[in-house]
Parts: sequence; structure tokens; C-alpha cells
Amino acid sequence: MSFSVLGLDAKILQAVTEAGYTEPTPIQTAAIPPIIAGHDLIGIAQTGTGKTAAFTLPILTKLAQQPPGQRRGTKVLVIAPTRELVVQIEENIRAYAKHLPLTVATVFGGVGEQPQIRALRSGTDVVVACPGRLIDLMGQRAADFSQLKYLVLDEADRMLDMGFLPSIRRVVQGLPKVRQTLMFSATLSKEIESLTHEFQRAPKVVQIGRRANPAETVTQFVYEVPKHLKPALLQHLLQDPKMEMVLVFSRMKHAADRVARQLEQKGIRTATLHSNRSQNQRLKALKDFKSGAVRVLVATDIAARGIDVDGISHVINYDFPMHVEDYIHRIGRTGRANAIGDAISFVTNEDHGELRALERFIGRGIVRKKAEGFNYTAAAPPYNPAEEERRFPRGQNQNRQQRQGQPSRSGQSRAPQHGGQPRSERSGQSNWRR
Ligand code: AMP
Repeated sequence: MSFSVLGLDAKILQAVTEAGYTEPTPIQTAAIPPIIAGHDLIGIAQTGTGKTAAFTLPILTKLAQQPPGQRRGTKVLVIAPTRELVVQIEENIRAYAKHLPLTVATVFGGVGEQPQIRALRSGTDVVVACPGRLIDLMGQRAADFSQLKYLVLDEADRMLDMGFLPSIRRVVQGLPKVRQTLMFSATLSKEIESLTHEFQRAPKVVQIGRRANPAETVTQFVYEVPKHLKPALLQHLLQDPKMEMVLVFSRMKHAADRVARQLEQKGIRTATLHSNRSQNQRLKALKDFKSGAVRVLVATDIAARGIDVDGISHVINYDFPMHVEDYIHRIGRTGRANAIGDAISFVTNEDHGELRALERFIGRGIVRKKAEGFNYTAAAPPYNPAEEERRFPRGQNQNRQQRQGQPSRSGQSRAPQHGGQPRSERSGQSNWRR
């Protein structure tokens, strides 16, 4: 099937051709016509399926076909959970709108407000925003959404997980009632359905693939490994030159820093991405990873949500993910847009229950593999009180004795000093939905 049969505007077709897309992905084929016809829509699609273009192309088509002389003001608001995703969506919109006279702006925290306020006040056509900062700026009356026609809630499931529902409600209260609302989510849960009732009118449902089925193109493996050998196994696997561009997931921020330090010590160029890093550091880490300046990016789930980096050869779950949805999002970082990628999960004795729950959820077993030439019988390093003190300063750790006596599950025994970081980065508590 060709893009030309979907009813898109000629200038957008031109931009799509220039982006190198030859045919629409399934979510695009299914979602574009009903959006152009004016329906509300809920799109259930895995990550990496081309869902950004699935909502952007038809909205831009409708904007391009508006009669001239429309009133100035923001026409499109896209809300997404993380700054990285907001930046990525903005980049996509700019690429698809390159032949249209439209303005695009982003709104997210961690950077100065003034440029964002100026952009909102000037009536930017398309605004892509994280909910928190948007609420702040709406409170300052910087935004004029009286002309708004299209609202997109992207990664709605993750926004619910991150506790953004009250902010989203407040934003939506400030929008015109007559509008077209599109919602995208990796999974269709009861919570998502109730969100649909709240914000949409008779939405068409477009579902690609089985519910929560991990991207078909990703080859998945499990490496069973004693917990103390995880750093050595990671370094061993990275000796393989086929591991060109590797995204490593850890559950917690300090673990991400530790893994990165260990790799750097072995001469492996590595960057980190988590919520303790400044916005500039996060953008630089992504830039270095994209350009190949670093080979490995170690990230936590929240920070990595929606990362769209072409050419990731491998995703490694250094720590087993906390939610089924996280697993699906993590492995969706490789194998994007029909490329082939490998997803490797380290599984310790403590992770077996969760691995089984995942296999039940996705409806198939994941192949177990052994790393060739790796010494699985190496002893655990001796207990080192100085290292222990450095990592868990006295008074911050209620369970020091428990860890000394019996190794605990990674992260569960820490007293978090979170200062407002996302829930899943600061707690190692497992919360699998079965
Ligand atoms: P998304 O799911 O929106 O994050 O998109 C994943 C990747 O697929 C992005 O790198 C897009 O540029 C790319 N993409 C989107 N649509 C197509 C298409 N029709 N053909 C090839 N690549 C695409």
C-alpha cells in the first residue's frame, strides 16, 4: 500500500517521501483515514510502530487544508510523559511539516520558562508538552487554547503510571469542548478505557497486533546469571563487536551510574540517562549515543521512555524490568521500524517469578542462552565495608544488616532519597501486572 491512497495533503506526502518512507506502517494505514474523517481515536500500538506519524500526518493534512485567514492561536496540543519524548515528537512534526508555514514549540520542565512563555503567547500552531510545566504556564495565563482543534495524548498508559492524571484533567478543563481527541497507548487497560470515556467522544479503536505483544522483529533472550556476576557478564557480552549500539536498562539511578562507571573503567565509552541528570546532560547523552560518540547508554525506564534512536543493535535488561509494560517498551527501543534487534535480559534467582509472569503475559517462552567462554562459577567479591559505606551512607539505609546477612533484591532494601523523582526510578519494588 502507498501513502498516496490515505488522503494526505500533497506537501505532507512530499515530506514523507523525503523522510525515506516508502509505505505506511499498519498503525498509519489504520489510523490516518479515520483521523482525517474527523473521528476521535484510540490507537493501541507498540512502541516503534510509527505511531507519531500516524497522528501527525492526518492532523497536518487537516491544518494544511484549512481556509486561509484563520484566527491566530494554538491549534494542536500534544501531551507526552517525558521531555525526551516531547523533543522527539517535535522533531518528527517539524520534519513532516517542513513544507507548511506552521510553527511548533515544546513545553517541558528543567529549562527556562521565558522562551516557552513567548512561544505560547505568540500563538504557536502546534505545542508539544509535558503535563507539569504546561499546567504551570497555563496558570500564568501564557497559553491561549481558545482556537485549539486537536488534542493528542501520547503514551497515555505511561502518563497514568507516572501519576499525571490530575494534571491532564486540569489541562483538558482549559481546552475547548469541541475538538478532536486522539489517544495512544501501548496497552488497553481498564484505566485507559475510563480515560477514553472522560476525554473522547465515540472514539474509533485501532489496535495493531495482539495486546502487549512485544515487537515481532526483536529477538529475545534470557541469560541466567548469579547477581554478583552481572557486571562481569555485561562486560563479557560487550566484547562482541556486533554489539555496536547498546542500550542498557537498570532499575535505579545510582545503579545506572555504577554500571556506567564500571564500563568506562574497562574502556567502553558509556553515557547515562536518568532523572537525576540535568536536561542538558540528558540531551547530550542522547546526542552522543545517536552520533556513536558513546557505544553504550545506560538508562532507567522513565528516562528512556520513547527514546527514538535508529540503529540500536541490542537492548540489555541489566536489571529485570518492574512492569510488563516496561519490558515491552524497553525491547521496543531496538528493532524499530522493521529493523532487526536483539533484546537480552539478565535473570537472577530472584527474578524467576517475574520472568514466568512475563512469559505468561506475552504468551510464549523466551529462549535461555549461556554466554560462551564466560566463567559462571566465579566467586562473589568479598564483603567490603568501605565500598558499602560509600554506596549506602550510614543513616540512609534501614536495611544494612539485612543486606550484610543475606543479599537482598536489588533496590528493595534501600531507603530512597528521592526528592521527587519518578516512582519507578526510586523504588525497586516489583509491581507486575499479571
Ligand atoms: P514511532 O513509533 O513514532 O516512535 O516511530 C518509530 C520510527 O519509525 C521512527 O524512527 C520513525 O521515523 C520511523 N517511521 C515512522 N513511519 C515510518 C514508515 N512509514 N516507514 C519507515 N519508517 C517509519
